[in-house]
Amino acid sequence: MSRQLHLLTILFSTFVTLCTHDARAAQIETKQLSEIVKVLASDDFEGRAPGGPGEEKTIAYLVGRFQALGLAPGGDNGGWTQAVPLIRTQLQDPASMAFSIGGKRQALEQVKDIAIGTIRPQGRITIDRAPVVFVGFGASAPERQWDDFGDIDLNGKVAVFLVNDPDFAAGPDEAVAGRFGNRRMTYYGRWTYKFEEAGRRGALAALVIHEDKAAGYGWSVASSGPGENYSIVRAEDAAEPVTLQGWLHGDAAARLFAGAGLDLDEQRSLAHNPDFEAFELKNVTFSADLAVTVEHIESQNVLAILPGTTHPDEILMASSHWDAYGHGEPDAQGRTIRPGANDDALGTAGVLELARVLKAGAPLERSVVFAVWTAEESGLLGSAAYAADPIYPLEKTAANFTLDILQTAGPARDVILVGEGQSDLQGDLERAAALQGRVVTPENLPENGLFFRADHFSLARGGVPVLLIMGIAGGSDLVEGGRAAGDAWIAEYIGNCYHQTCDAWDADWDLRGAAMDVELFHSIIRDLGNSRRWPQWQPGSEFRAIRELTDATRESHD
Ligand SMILES: [Zn+2]
Repeated sequence: MSRQLHLLTILFSTFVTLCTHDARAAQIETKQLSEIVKVLASDDFEGRAPGGPGEEKTIAYLVGRFQALGLAPGGDNGGWTQAVPLIRTQLQDPASMAFSIGGKRQALEQVKDIAIGTIRPQGRITIDRAPVVFVGFGASAPERQWDDFGDIDLNGKVAVFLVNDPDFAAGPDEAVAGRFGNRRMTYYGRWTYKFEEAGRRGALAALVIHEDKAAGYGWSVASSGPGENYSIVRAEDAAEPVTLQGWLHGDAAARLFAGAGLDLDEQRSLAHNPDFEAFELKNVTFSADLAVTVEHIESQNVLAILPGTTHPDEILMASSHWDAYGHGEPDAQGRTIRPGANDDALGTAGVLELARVLKAGAPLERSVVFAVWTAEESGLLGSAAYAADPIYPLEKTAANFTLDILQTAGPARDVILVGEGQSDLQGDLERAAALQGRVVTPENLPENGLFFRADHFSLARGGVPVLLIMGIAGGSDLVEGGRAAGDAWIAEYIGNCYHQTCDAWDADWDLRGAAMDVELFHSIIRDLGNSRRWPQWQPGSEFRAIRELTDATRESHD
């Protein structure tokens, strides 16, 4: 090599190093993650309940951090927040509910037989001998050539659903096998879908028959917090939700079917059949007379923006939720605050770190919005309120990246993917992971439908392609201890701390794996931020059709 060429080589590699250094100057730092969580999960913040004493401090802290980083306000009217008016409803005792079976009244006891509530802001609910319709799994899925409803009219009636989707418990030889993603739960399997479908069809009430395995959790979880519901305030012209919604205990359901001369287990199998059609149960009606207290709560989402240089109207969104569970029953040490340190102060710390490193690096062509939602734990409400009234049009939001719980057990050889096969962002995640010498592993319990249980889902329903990193989606293959150690970490966290007082900041957390996970989003956002690419839902995804409605608005901009 000539001396001159050698010099050129040195100059060139220095230039490359400088450029790379410029773009990647800042790294996600474990120390930063820890310090942010330490503040948000401190006693001062009182468990960050929406509308509670911790909200004001939380909002002030988040706004202060975004401001200090030099980001612009991304909320309503040039401010840092978006108002999220919430409604809390509570059924009062005694709640009178009953099936009438062959003219004989069979009372239904809240928590024991039924776990029911309302999201309608009305003081009293009276249902008088409404007919009861069995709708099977209650799926209306034209893209899967499936319709459980046929010609049935649900107006003024009670719809009884099976939980999960039609192929969940089907054998491999049944016609339904694979029609709903096999073990993977589709949105048709979620109780939220079933309540919404009942509402769209004018039903008075929607009851989902509880089963441990198909629901993914036991009756004690399904019936906890009885009669209490949170919801967003709906626009005046929005469709009314179903009046009463909830779970029916499996035993109560079996009695109901027996009263109508049917066997519940047999009907459950028949509902796997593609020819199944909803039908009214003979000799059976449902009545209820319930008083409801309605409370209004004002809460807020926090939003900041890093404006893009050449395509500022094209949005990449990074998000988490700031809320946790506030105060609860005292634990063995007398602690009442449930600080939500991991869930989701740590995800929020990740979003703040993304803001810091993206701001520190070379400016991007597209804008990045950082959204920290309220009321996730009350039913994804802050993100739902945003999706119902988005500040940045959903059709120009290229992707949402959500952090909700990160593992604190150290570096891992893989990252867990929630929602395999949903969108081509899976490829982005694989490429980003490969840069770190890691691989992508699909979640190990797709039947639990985690894909529908975090805030990214609110955006997905609006058509926005999404990626979620959720530390409890499956055990990571940890560098120290492998998959067994990753599974043990989840078992310990879910068993003892999840939503409890012990989800507290810990100086001994090993956040190296969490920082690498956040770095994956950094790397993907950086790539997409300078790209004209719009990530797509895969064929067969429940969310593809809604995105396609606005395809023209994106193509015209390419
Ligand atoms: Zn969470």
